[in-house]
Amino acid sequence: MKFIPAPEYKVRQQLVDIIKLFHQREWSPATSTNYSFRTPEVEEKIYTISRSGVDKYYFNEHDFMHIDGAGKPTADYAHLKPSAETGLHTMLYSQYTDCQAILHTHSLLSTVLSAKYEKQKGFFIENLEVLKALRGITTHETKVWIPIFPNSQDIATLSLEVKAYLDQNPNTFGFLLGGHGLYAWGNSLAEAKRHTEAFEFLFACFDKANSLSA
Ligand SMILES: [Zn+2]
Repeated sequence: MKFIPAPEYKVRQQLVDIIKLFHQREWSPATSTNYSFRTPEVEEKIYTISRSGVDKYYFNEHDFMHIDGAGKPTADYAHLKPSAETGLHTMLYSQYTDCQAILHTHSLLSTVLSAKYEKQKGFFIENLEVLKALRGITTHETKVWIPIFPNSQDIATLSLEVKAYLDQNPNTFGFLLGGHGLYAWGNSLAEAKRHTEAFEFLFACFDKANSLSA
């Protein structure tokens, strides 16, 4: 078993707790979803990411691996397969130097809403108290655009498309992939969790309000 520095091991434990909690909430069915955090104590531009194909019910501290800024496994982890979506994580870390953690979920709501509103490239959520859970928002009297990008298996091209949007809209803390799920991040693992929960709750409110007014 590989040596894992104590500070990194602690974050792995915290993230395992979050992964299990999200799994209980049915946000990570059938081995899907991926999670990462910045690991500066190992080396600048080395990230710790969940390895591919693990049932999140059984996920543990040893189911992570290190990747470099290009998304390639480091020598210690060359025998493991990173998630197919690793390129989105490395793009986000290079885009936001303060980004410490990225959580990617496949909830029922994020999957269905992202497919339904993909043609409009997103939807607004407005005037809800929980919008204040997003960094920098201090009043419910606001509206936030939730961007949706078409899903793709060509992650390099998809990353460039998302990056072009983020260049224009730096105050973004999450996006949807059509028929796929949510990416959310933060300047700490706690903030990434708070943003993910906020988005999921806001999606539920948006969906419920739409169904009541239908
Ligand atoms: Zn995914």
